Amino acid sequence: MYHSARYEEPLLNQLQGGRSHTFTPVADLPESLRRTKPLNIPNLEESQVVRHFLHLSQQNYGIDTGIYPLGSCTMKYNPKICEEIAKWECFSHTHPCQNHDTVQGNLRIMYELSEMLCELTGMHEFALQPAAGAHGEFLGMLLTQAYHASRNDSNRTEVILPDTSHGTNPASAAMAGYSVVEIPSTNEGTIDLAALENALSNKTACFMLTNPNTLGIFESEISEIARIVHRSGALLYYDGANMNAIMGKTRPGDMGFDIVHLNLHKTFSTPHGGGGPGAGPIGVKEKLIPFLPLPRIKKKQGRYLFDYDYLHSIGKIKDFYGNFSVLLKAYVYILLMGKEGLTEASEIAVLNANYMKHKLIQSKHYTLPFRQLRKHEFVLSCDQLLQTKNIRAMDIAKRLLDYGLHPPTVYFPLIVKEALMIEPTESETKKTIDMYIDALLSIAQEDPELVKNAPQNTPVKRIDEAQAIKNPVLTWNMIRD
Ligand SMILES: *Cc1c(COP(=O)(O)O)cnc(C)c1O
Repeated sequence: MYHSARYEEPLLNQLQGGRSHTFTPVADLPESLRRTKPLNIPNLEESQVVRHFLHLSQQNYGIDTGIYPLGSCTMKYNPKICEEIAKWECFSHTHPCQNHDTVQGNLRIMYELSEMLCELTGMHEFALQPAAGAHGEFLGMLLTQAYHASRNDSNRTEVILPDTSHGTNPASAAMAGYSVVEIPSTNEGTIDLAALENALSNKTACFMLTNPNTLGIFESEISEIARIVHRSGALLYYDGANMNAIMGKTRPGDMGFDIVHLNLHKTFSTPHGGGGPGAGPIGVKEKLIPFLPLPRIKKKQGRYLFDYDYLHSIGKIKDFYGNFSVLLKAYVYILLMGKEGLTEASEIAVLNANYMKHKLIQSKHYTLPFRQLRKHEFVLSCDQLLQTKNIRAMDIAKRLLDYGLHPPTVYFPLIVKEALMIEPTESETKKTIDMYIDALLSIAQEDPELVKNAPQNTPVKRIDEAQAIKNPVLTWNMIRD
């Protein structure tokens, strides 16, 4: 509806609480700046607007609408009470510039969350600032640099990682100025100890590892890996994105890792995808504590305070203290679950993945390269379908959309041909998992043309993925004169 400038004046007054004008009223705009014709926006009934937006929202797919087995992302159910509590005004209305005396409760939550994460991971201290896993990795690289520099050992310029590593690992190492050395996996899909020994030298700053790795395979030689990495003077970094597989079972600290990041938005219940907010706290062993970012939260005589007094700290990695609402949700989630609940979550996540894997490979349409026993996720190859029916992993992903299901991760890790990376998580029922298995088996037997031309039932058909990355159109130009 068209409003003249005069209509807006009383509204603005009202918004100001009836106080006298403290700014020039809209009506006093110079003639040259005034609109000469009505704004070209749709003129609709309220009911039409409501229906439009409701229908748009119904076209969304999220964990609250169905299974979301996007491997490596741990898209699990996030209890609504976590959201509810994060919304409470006592939390959402606090300001990061408030004096610490007025936010004792918030500080206590962050302090206690750090202690819980230490207990869960076997690390000695946590820093909560990083806003994502990748951000935590980058902080980990800065800590690695500070550690070696403090020992006058600054010629360590290389970071080693396996060919199964997540793309953020080499990116973080490179951003911190390291050169990246990639080692190939064995035909079991695990670290090749001989290749690792070969790559390690007095130039190695760090070895970055995910365990279980991105194939969902646990590195059973982890103690030996830690021993040879430390023997060379390097640090061992744990990418904790797969923590959902091992909670309460084993701890990266006990495996010999020096630095750990956790993706709170994956493992500890914050809805994610679409860019955040998230949290990627970093845990370290004692020798790295002096370098952690500032400020640190300390407890003195029952009060919590910010401590800036660390000469060797790398400084700040994020404004204020991190994404507090995500930290709060993780805190609530851990309290809700308890240690036993978290352990059970991991057990069921692993059980679900192995059940699904077993059913799918029995069919012979999909194959499972590398070691058979998996943790919370598994990576199938559709290479056989490519050979026999010219169907690719991407076609299967798109066809799943026609079944109303979210596809798994595709083409990752890179060492599996035509990869489908599936992580059902602990929060799906057997019925849902069976339905997903049936969909994958049925797609494998469908007319290849149907699969290659999928999706048919979605509001948007197949997009040009390369164009979408190179030429993203991120705004909708509604007003065209
Ligand atoms: C998700 C993920 C990351 C990166 O974490 P973000 O929170 O998305 O930055 C790193 N490594 C692995 C294995 C992951 O799955």
